[in-house]
Amino acid sequence: PLPAITGNIQFKNVVFEYEKGRPALKGIDLDVRQGQSIALVGHTGSGKSTIINLLSRFYDTTGGSVLIDGYDIRDITVRSLRSQIGIVLQDTFIFSGTIRENIRFGRLEATNQEIEEAAKAVNAHDFITKLPNGYDTQVEERGNVLSMGQRQLLSFARALLANPRILILDEATASIDTETELKIQEALKVLLKGRTSFIVAHRLSTIRSADNIVVLDHGEIKESGTHQEL
Ligand code: ATP
Ligand code: MG
Repeated sequence: PLPAITGNIQFKNVVFEYEKGRPALKGIDLDVRQGQSIALVGHTGSGKSTIINLLSRFYDTTGGSVLIDGYDIRDITVRSLRSQIGIVLQDTFIFSGTIRENIRFGRLEATNQEIEEAAKAVNAHDFITKLPNGYDTQVEERGNVLSMGQRQLLSFARALLANPRILILDEATASIDTETELKIQEALKVLLKGRTSFIVAHRLSTIRSADNIVVLDHGEIKESGTHQEL
């Protein structure tokens, strides 16, 4: 098992092919230090999700290696790896159950107080308490009790409660009203604090606040730097 990790991540000359002879990544080098956030940007098909797929080990590299704290992730069991990585995907995953259960997710030992503290920290508590049964309100996987913005905040609360060292975020593209947008921005700051994070960023505000921005183009890094540098 992986000892308590600090969260330094390196991609070393990473090549990946979903189909033989058609590389989706063509020699990616990345060095993300503990606690830093990196925003991945680029056109559709440029390789953003592929980088995240390799880091979560949904696939293994075709060439080169991905290292966490110097360990090749192929030498870490998927289970142990996933226990250290929080993943928030675009279609933030809601299952049939109460709001409380949705935040608790895998953390069966979490108390109601811990759940509410996580919700408060990411600006989700207010809308939750306005629902007919508050934290005990029943939601459905495809129901429409929650807006896209509220789903996003709920998934932030879940990720915060899980408290992973590494966070992967595929930011939702759905249009969100200005007020919720501000809440999400604030919440994101809380969520990213102290974690190494990879963000497929769609919002300018998110890109601006990242420590490093990597622009991908056809599976290669076209440029990288801070928002000021680019
Ligand atoms: P988007 O902004 O549309 O999400 P992306 O930057 O995330 O794009 P990737 O999904 O990483 O792009 O795709 C990189 C390349 O790999 C593209 O050429 C894509 O067609 C190809 N690709 C992605 N997933 C698969 C798959 N499951 N099987 C085959 N090819 C794939
Ligand atoms: Mg993608």
